[in-house]
Amino acid sequence: MKFSAKQKIILLILVIGFLSLFAAITYFTRPYYPTIHEYILSERGAIYVPPEKYKINGYKASCKGRPTVLDKKFDSWGGAYPGYIIINPIANKGLATTIRLYIYYHECGHQFTGINEMKADNFAILQGLDSGWLTKDSDMQKICHFVSKIPADALHKDGKTRCKAMTSFFNKKTSRRTGKHH
Ligand SMILES: [Zn+2]
Repeated sequence: MKFSAKQKIILLILVIGFLSLFAAITYFTRPYYPTIHEYILSERGAIYVPPEKYKINGYKASCKGRPTVLDKKFDSWGGAYPGYIIINPIANKGLATTIRLYIYYHECGHQFTGINEMKADNFAILQGLDSGWLTKDSDMQKICHFVSKIPADALHKDGKTRCKAMTSFFNKKTSRRTGKHH
């Protein structure tokens, strides 16, 4: 099939039109994430904690250079946006150190594993084993007990499923390290 010069121009305009439309749809439907500075500016009372400066009961909470925002009004124990972690200090108050560390490292995990909750859970377990704050079965049980109470939502499986998955991951990792079988 041969196109006349005029037809070629019309075709070109149509192609450009479709491409721009596609680009616009992709742009406007992408999820919007505030930068840490936008977050601090928009949430009154939110506090910026530089990377490597956040401490949990004496443990240095370190997320490979990611800063933390302390936000008392955040609607969960913690959250993550690309590039930073959000912790609600009020919600975390009174929780066992192991659980607070688990919460922090679960959110840190999202920085590297994306939105997958099970992967973020396992990331936290590995961090705990490596840094030594999660080595005892009783600590794993504490985390399980905490997570079990959380109902499922759009992104998270129910707590009992997460508890089971984390425990078997923990058992697999600890038995490999110690040669012990669970
Ligand atoms: Zn999560």
